[in-house]
Amino acid sequence: MATKMKQLTPLQQLLCRNKHCQGPVMIKRNKAIVIGGASAASKILGRLSGDLENLNKLNIIPKLVPIVIGNVAESQVYINHKVKAAAKAGVDCSVQHYPNEITQVELLEKIHELNQDPSVHGIIVQLPLPQHLDEHIICNAVFTSKDVDGFTSSSLGRLVQGVDSDCKASYVPCTPLAVLKILQHDVDIKFKGLNACVAGRSHNVGMPIAMILSHDAIKGGLDLTTTICHRYTPPEKFADAVSKADVIVTAAGVPGLVKPEIVKPGAVVVDVGINPIINPDTGKRKLVGDVHPDVAEVAGWMTPVPGGVGPCTVACLLHNTVLAAKNSGTHRST
Ligand code: NAD
Repeated sequence: MATKMKQLTPLQQLLCRNKHCQGPVMIKRNKAIVIGGASAASKILGRLSGDLENLNKLNIIPKLVPIVIGNVAESQVYINHKVKAAAKAGVDCSVQHYPNEITQVELLEKIHELNQDPSVHGIIVQLPLPQHLDEHIICNAVFTSKDVDGFTSSSLGRLVQGVDSDCKASYVPCTPLAVLKILQHDVDIKFKGLNACVAGRSHNVGMPIAMILSHDAIKGGLDLTTTICHRYTPPEKFADAVSKADVIVTAAGVPGLVKPEIVKPGAVVVDVGINPIINPDTGKRKLVGDVHPDVAEVAGWMTPVPGGVGPCTVACLLHNTVLAAKNSGTHRST
């Protein structure tokens, strides 16, 4: 079937500052530009190749240690993705599994050992944890210099001061960093002064995303005027905030939350949500985001689920780990 040629929407034309996109540009699609996570992730990793080469010349292999407690099937899927991507990128990823019954004292002792081990550059604790373990205490036990998930109070506090995406002093949480990198490198528009809406305000996803979008560009942000919505935002206020947004980021975990009728034509829509649902046609489990698929008919740019922000998040974890190795200057014999 022949692909219809269509002009960019007025907002796309207005916002597009790509030197290849001057004037009304013909694009071979009649829907939003889909930002593929695999290619966005490979760009993130590609930009690290120089650092990786330099580390390898010094006989340093970046080492990441994910800590997994118990046998949560969901966690295992995420860990498998991380292990696979790390192997491809040349990062040593050594998963430490502990039984559900591990005590908080025992787990803190394991983290302490990894903090002291100079061959380990990044430590992450796979969430959620069993109920008897205090997430705040456990996550904060990781040294800031090895906190490649950016979940410690210290890393999150530093994010309030500025977005250190080059990892000079701390690490930006991986999903918020993935959203930033997608907007900076895969959507060629000028963000300064535009409106954004973030659905979700969790301390390691929604809130840091909103912070990054609204931060001053001088401090690594995007200068967007940002509205944060949450579970108690009334639907009409939510619709109002979304309809005024040039950039919409959803991290709510609510399938179909963003419907096409409330999206501004040409808006950038980044879908962080990952929601397992049962496909009514097949009875099989599938993953969907927070954004209704018909939004693709209205938006200018859109990330798919699965295969959008997810692979970029993993790439950002490896990004942080490689830079942690670079910062550490430690040698690891192979
Ligand atoms: P969370 O449950 O901690 O937070 C959800 C947030 O959404 C809360 O702040 C809540 O107030 C808000 N919310 C709930 N209903 C809402 C509504 N109707 N309108 C607006 N906001 C609403 O979850 P989380 O850890 O922040 O994760 C959010 C989503 O992102 C989940 O689907 C999760 O699976 C996904 N996620 C994806 C990645 C990735 O790499 N793509 C990484 C982390 C989390």
